[in-house]
Amino acid sequence: MPNQRRASKKQRSLEILLRLKRLYPEAPCSLDFANPLQLMIATMLAAQCTDERVNLVTPALFAAYPDVYAFAEADIADLEQLVKSTGFYRNKAKNIRAACQRIITEYNGEVPPRMEDLVTLPGVARKTANVVLAHGFGINGGVTVDTHVKRITNLLGLTKHADPVKIERDLMKLLPQPDWENWSIRLVYHGRAVCNARNPKCGLCELADLCPSAKVLPVVPVSEAAVLPVVSLVPEAVQS
Ligand code: SF4
Repeated sequence: MPNQRRASKKQRSLEILLRLKRLYPEAPCSLDFANPLQLMIATMLAAQCTDERVNLVTPALFAAYPDVYAFAEADIADLEQLVKSTGFYRNKAKNIRAACQRIITEYNGEVPPRMEDLVTLPGVARKTANVVLAHGFGINGGVTVDTHVKRITNLLGLTKHADPVKIERDLMKLLPQPDWENWSIRLVYHGRAVCNARNPKCGLCELADLCPSAKVLPVVPVSEAAVLPVVSLVPEAVQS
């Protein structure tokens, strides 16, 4: 019986994946970057910030600090000023500079293309590392789990966990590896378009027949629903 349940959950997750692909055919990274270092830094800045805001900040940032050595030697006050509008700027500036210093001392100045190395960099945990691996190196190392992915994966009944690491583990068992990263991006799109946190539109949702939470959610009148900011796919706990 448990095996049957597992099999049906897997079938359901694959059908959900197919429908998400049909609904959102394109699943690009929404951060602007030219190389893995810029992607890593943009992803760090996207913690608790929108990708749109990060994309406004990074052109001047990458012009001021063109490579890992420039970031590693940055004057911290100057760096803070350039990233200030992304929020949590002191920690972000400190982590970016420290991560670049470690990339130089431990990895010959190149962003390492391995999860176990990436997560040793200050300010880089699994979420950032997953994004860097997927979009910087074409490696699906895991599933990025942000607040949207966590919420909707739970609503879809594909996990019972609240801990992002455990949710990621569940999703890695259910989804084909090539789809690990695009699952997260498409789920974020679905959260913005249909499965809003305050007012999921189950009646309009093309996943409703596959979703155990359909219909059971209380519907909040649109006038009472707060307009939520679009939060980045990769909000990472800013590490001090
Ligand atoms: S059916 Fe409702 S709760 Fe389930 S994914 Fe769709 S909008 Fe979200």
